[in-house]
Amino acid sequence: MAQKFLENGYEICELEENPNVVVVNTCTVTNIADRKSRQVLRKVKEENPQSIIVAVGCYVQVAKETVENMKEIDLCLGNVEKKDIVKKVEEYMKKNQKENIEMQNKETTNEEKINEEQSNNNQTTNEEKNTEQQETEPDYNVVLGNYIDVNETVYATTNVNIRAFDNASCDKKGLLQSDKSITRTGIGNNGWSRVIFNGEVTYVASNYLTTEKPPEKIPVKVPIKNRNIDPLKPMVALTFDDGPNGTATPKILDILEKYNVVATFFDLGTCMENYPNITKREEQIGCEVGSHTYSHQNLNKLSGEEIQDDISNASRIYEKTLGHTLYLVRPPYGNANVTVRRTLKYPLIGWDVDSLDWKTRDKKKILEEVNKISNFDGRIILMHSIYNSTAEAVEELVPQLLSKGYQLVTVSEMAKYKEKTLQTSTVYYNFR
Ligand code: ZN
Repeated sequence: MAQKFLENGYEICELEENPNVVVVNTCTVTNIADRKSRQVLRKVKEENPQSIIVAVGCYVQVAKETVENMKEIDLCLGNVEKKDIVKKVEEYMKKNQKENIEMQNKETTNEEKINEEQSNNNQTTNEEKNTEQQETEPDYNVVLGNYIDVNETVYATTNVNIRAFDNASCDKKGLLQSDKSITRTGIGNNGWSRVIFNGEVTYVASNYLTTEKPPEKIPVKVPIKNRNIDPLKPMVALTFDDGPNGTATPKILDILEKYNVVATFFDLGTCMENYPNITKREEQIGCEVGSHTYSHQNLNKLSGEEIQDDISNASRIYEKTLGHTLYLVRPPYGNANVTVRRTLKYPLIGWDVDSLDWKTRDKKKILEEVNKISNFDGRIILMHSIYNSTAEAVEELVPQLLSKGYQLVTVSEMAKYKEKTLQTSTVYYNFR
């Protein structure tokens, strides 16, 4: 797939088989249906009116009804494999061709009618035009669903927007933070919940609410080395997942050592077993080591018991390798539903800058992606310690960041100097 990266966090690919097909991967966006996302999609369509916009990925999977109803999306597929995308698009195009021919026939007759009417009455045609215009810009400031009354406390499963009405294109009223509670007064038939926010009737997408109480949070004491860090100066945390391996990880460590800077490595149990000395070296040069679980499974798909098994293995190998207990975890893919958070009694570290190094595997593209951000202070950058292209990018990125005045710190250092106490069962994306 040829790849293009557009604004607003969109990952948009054009299929090699047909460059008019634009695939939007909704796993990389938090909401495809908000106003800004719709603008991005409209721009794609404006630039190439022939394009067929296909939505795939996690968000489509959870909010199929909303995405299907978006007029910016031509085809809504959910979690599908690439070969199936091509097949489904072909089916869609065939069906569309047929419909187009039928439509063209109809349009001709309508035009003929309008011409007739025009000669009789101009006003009718204008009125018709007005109705048409209204249809292209629908009113987002109305309640669309039918609601069953309830009165219960619900909790957000992730950071989620509170809206004035029950659609993602209307105004935001606020943000309900992960694990925070709110009173729900209605459950809609359209995937939205009616909630009370600051005494006002508002709406939140039901997918992100649960009646299950969030896990208890306990402050965690993290070991901090004595380094010369100025809390008033900007700082950024480089993080490296999926390693260690025998080639790229040592290169990255050489670069960090050369510039006398540190990073955080989220190592896999299986890789630590294979390269214990590299994990040890990470810590020896002042970096921080956390766990990226034992075997890199999507924890959202596992039971509490299975998650516990995996993390027990991971922490056993971690202790054996480094001689101290595990205190920091990054779940694979950043996936941490309520069961994951309840089971993993560690601070869970996400990221807010994704270098996409695993996808592009290209030094220039990695640097371009990271440098889309102008202010790195308090941010966590996601990279992977297993690609040579990542090592090449780090060789340029580190001096770049230093010359811009950033201190390169570990995740725990950043939490400390940004005065945030890390807690168990909590996901951190940055410390801004
Ligand atoms: Zn990973």
